[in-house]
Amino acid sequence: MERIANFINGEYVSPNSGKYIDVFEPATGSAYASVPNSNLEDVNAAVKAAEKAWKNWSNTTPEDRSIIVHRIAGELESRLDEFAEYESRDTGKPLSQAVSVDIPRAIANFRFFSDSILNYKDETFDSTEYGHNTVSRQPLGVVGCISPWNLPLYLFSWKIAPALVTGNCVVGKPSELTPYTAFKLGEICNKAGLPGGVLNIIQGLGMKAGSAITSHPKIKAISFTGGTKTGEIISKSAAPSFKKLSLELGGKNPNVIFADCDFETMLATTIRSSFSNQGEICLCGSRILIEQTIYDTFVQEFVNRTKELKIGDPKEGDTNLGALISNEHLEKVLGYVDLARNEGGKILYGGEKVQLNGRCSEGWFMSPTIIAGLAPGCRTNQEEIFGPVVSLIPFDTEYEAVEIANASKYGLSATIWTSDITKANRIAEQIDAGVIWINCWMIRDLRTPFGGMKNSGVGREGGKEALDFFTEQKNICRIQ
Ligand code: NDP
Repeated sequence: MERIANFINGEYVSPNSGKYIDVFEPATGSAYASVPNSNLEDVNAAVKAAEKAWKNWSNTTPEDRSIIVHRIAGELESRLDEFAEYESRDTGKPLSQAVSVDIPRAIANFRFFSDSILNYKDETFDSTEYGHNTVSRQPLGVVGCISPWNLPLYLFSWKIAPALVTGNCVVGKPSELTPYTAFKLGEICNKAGLPGGVLNIIQGLGMKAGSAITSHPKIKAISFTGGTKTGEIISKSAAPSFKKLSLELGGKNPNVIFADCDFETMLATTIRSSFSNQGEICLCGSRILIEQTIYDTFVQEFVNRTKELKIGDPKEGDTNLGALISNEHLEKVLGYVDLARNEGGKILYGGEKVQLNGRCSEGWFMSPTIIAGLAPGCRTNQEEIFGPVVSLIPFDTEYEAVEIANASKYGLSATIWTSDITKANRIAEQIDAGVIWINCWMIRDLRTPFGGMKNSGVGREGGKEALDFFTEQKNICRIQ
């Protein structure tokens, strides 16, 4: 079995302890590699390398950094298919999705931030009363970037790209379930000419390697994407050293569907927003609110369309749903289906483990699942399931739709379907979520802020917000 290594100071190194954890391919249920079970000593080595590298990296110009990060994008693009295969193998997602979404978006992240740093300028304020004020921005130093398993390189690059272009050095940790693309990113960075120590990648468990990063006194900021519970732990661990924190957490997103929508477009998009990536996207709409007058038609058409989805080997081109990330996660999601039954819900479709043949006979697959008949406040409708499971909830009035949409501790995203744009805008204003889509889903202009309200997060990523997060402001006031 291949041994994955940490990437410290531009070199691949073994973990200090010599300990490793198996890495599984979800589609086959078999281990194919092992990943370092890193500890504080590995994190210390990474921080030391990052601090040393920072002396030069923080003195490079934005143009220099932009050129190198652009090269990272270019190198990645030249190996797109190879990286997509790694990502599909680690996550169980259809290869077609890794080729068309995950890796292209990682490339776009590097490109976007290498362009945006060139337009990130000091601000000035002049007045006779308060003099000439210049607000300059400086990199923070060594920062920590911790990402989850569902969109591994996509979300890892979304953090490290803005950190690097603003002149910081990074200690990053991907999920130990999906380490491979971050592992291979080291090769790409070296080829692109990124100086050793500017990006260090520590592999391993969240509670060991991750918490060594979040509590490290020399790390100035943590950009984290993952579960809300982990976000809470990280907040506590980072607080004593007054780190800046960006937390992108869980969601329980409502899709609000009105009778006057373009039914066909809504239906096709709702299938995607429910089951893309096996429902393992924080932005999937898991609570589908449907206006009562079209409820029966929607149920019939939605179930029919879901039946057409193919659950299969991620390598096959026509597979719609691949495997779930782990057996443990599959059991957790199936447990929620049992909970839904116990809460009085009716399983309209799916709800079962799926047994495939051949190469995937031991894989962790389940059918897309549609539940109806549950009260908005029950656990199934309140807790993040993070799998291919949606719950259908009818509503009568606009007021009721907004009430149900907001009756959640989460506030990440929402989707509104109606041809009445005035109504859509009115509802968008009232829904407590950081990202709202009207008559679409998952459209992302990278210049716009991304993040959640309530328990879905603290701060925003994307565009200027990410550059602001990874820099410290300094106001210099001069009279005359
Ligand atoms: P986790 O919170 O379990 O893990 C995320 C990352 O944090 C992993 O690298 C994990 O390592 C690490 N980690 C875990 N515990 C700690 C700790 N104590 N200290 C430091 N790091 C730690 O999330 P998942 O990987 O399970 O991802 C799914 C979750 O992510 C869902 O809740 C989903 O909604 C959320 N998410 C949010 C997004 C957003 O933009 N708002 C986008 C995508 C996902 P390890 O894997 O070893 O545990």
